[in-house]
Amino acid sequence: MIAEACIPMPLQIVIDDVGWRNGHDGNKENQPFRTGVDRIHGAEDYRAIVRFGRELGMRPQAVMILGDWDTQNRLRKIPTASWLGANWDNSANVGPWMEECAEILRSNQAHLEVVMHGIMHEFWLNGIATRAEWHDDAGVMRPRHDVIARFELFLELVKQHRLGPPPRSFVVCAGRHNFGAPGENFAELVQQFGIQAIFNEFSDELPQTRPLDYEWFGFDRGLITVQRSYDLFRWNHLAPVPEKTPYGPVCGMHWPHILHADPVRNGEIVDGWVRVLKPLNQAFDRLLSPSTEAFLAQLVHHTVTTVKVTGDELEVDASEYYRLPWKYRPELPVTVKVRRANQIESLQIKITSEKPILRQKLK
Ligand SMILES: [Zn+2]
Repeated sequence: MIAEACIPMPLQIVIDDVGWRNGHDGNKENQPFRTGVDRIHGAEDYRAIVRFGRELGMRPQAVMILGDWDTQNRLRKIPTASWLGANWDNSANVGPWMEECAEILRSNQAHLEVVMHGIMHEFWLNGIATRAEWHDDAGVMRPRHDVIARFELFLELVKQHRLGPPPRSFVVCAGRHNFGAPGENFAELVQQFGIQAIFNEFSDELPQTRPLDYEWFGFDRGLITVQRSYDLFRWNHLAPVPEKTPYGPVCGMHWPHILHADPVRNGEIVDGWVRVLKPLNQAFDRLLSPSTEAFLAQLVHHTVTTVKVTGDELEVDASEYYRLPWKYRPELPVTVKVRRANQIESLQIKITSEKPILRQKLK
């Protein structure tokens, strides 16, 4: 019987702007865009992410903004980090919700990943909000000391609230980034804080020093940088009803996309997404990834590793995977799907740098 094989394109879910306490869009008031939802965010909104991950067997990225989690007014030390500068006062946000929500994140690491986004999302230049926290509109990185101070504060807040291990993935705020920047380079700088992957929504309006090496990713100072595809809905669209799967490997979202105006009903919105995304796992050429690390390995294999069937023998050649200038390359099995007479079988193929070409008999 004739078989065909492929390395399916994986899917990871990336949910931006998780962590705000009050969702109010403040951009007309010299404040951050936040989530655009005019209500308080609490435990049910974090449970929505957990439900999403559990239902799909995935770990969606909870891409976090942590300024509202500041209990000691530490933002005062970074005057560019808020509209109040040295007069920053977060006392109105401090409360038991912090531990309640932290506990949900902490105890559900099997169903989500805490990913770094920023402190307050924008950059207040002489007290005026400008886009965005990490780079300006021209792709110029914010001053090194500002970047470092924010990273240190973010990691302190993760530790203080025990939100899980320090994040290894990072989503750039508002798409302001500079892939391949010469000289002082963001991708180089963030590695000292444990970041191993950057996700960014690249668009033609925000040009980079150079394009990504491949359609969905590239390497900048050894760091993989992934095209975080466009959302299916506007960033502040609350409670949408999805009808199609996203194009490409990343399901880019914002927090309101899985929430309801009444938080008790969040599950209805999450279940709408689960209905649309779950069938991808059964498709011959797609796959739901269980983690960001597995996603990255599979995405790169999907792009550069070849697979072929000759008679009853399967050959996987991952030589190119090991030639890429990738510092944090995962040593994980690659998933290959084999189709025979409309039966699809999923195989985990263990490949190593010592033995990048593997041949095995199909059963
Ligand atoms: Zn954002």
